[in-house]
Amino acid sequence: MAIQRTFSIIKPDATKRNLTGAIAAKFEEAGLRIVASKRIQLTLAQAQTFYGVHSERPFFGELCEFMISEPIVVQVLEGEDAIAKNREVMGATNPADAAEGTIRKEFALSIGENSVHGSDAPETAAEEIAFFFSGLELVG
Ligand code: ATP
Ligand code: MG
Repeated sequence: MAIQRTFSIIKPDATKRNLTGAIAAKFEEAGLRIVASKRIQLTLAQAQTFYGVHSERPFFGELCEFMISEPIVVQVLEGEDAIAKNREVMGATNPADAAEGTIRKEFALSIGENSVHGSDAPETAAEEIAFFFSGLELVG
C-alpha cells in the first residue's frame, strides 16, 4: 500500500469537550501524520454542501445544524494506507458498535454526535481536502 492522504474533521461535540488533543494523539499513535490543521466554524451552506451526499436522509437537517453548532478542526492526515487506517482508528459510525480503543468508542456521544469524520475513499479524500485547504497550506 502506498502513502495516502485523507481528510478528517474533529466534530463540534469533541472540540466543545476539549478533546482536540486527545483525538490528534490517537491519529499520531496510529502512525498518521497531521500535515495540515485548522480550527474553523462552518456556515450552514458549507455544511450542506459538504454533507450533500446525505441530503435525502432523515437526519440531514440535524446533522448540518450539529456541524455548525461549535467550531470544528479540519485536518489532513498522511501515512501508509491512510484512508483505511483512519477509518479503523475512528471506529464504527455508531459508538455502540465501535471497537475498543477507537476514537468513537472512547469519545463519541451518539450516532450523530460521533466526534470525527474521515474520508471513505481516495476520490472523496481528494475532494474533501480541496474543499477546505489550498495547495499552499499543504506542506507535507
Ligand atoms: P463520516 O462521514 O462523518 O465520517 P461515517 O462515514 O461513519 O461518518 P455516514 O454514513 O457517512 O457515516 O454518515 C455521516 C454522518 O451522519 C455520521 O458520521 C453521523 O454524524 C451522521 N449520521 C449517520 N447516521 C445517522 C443517524 N442514523 N442518525 C443521526 N445522525 C447520523
Ligand atoms: Mg461518511
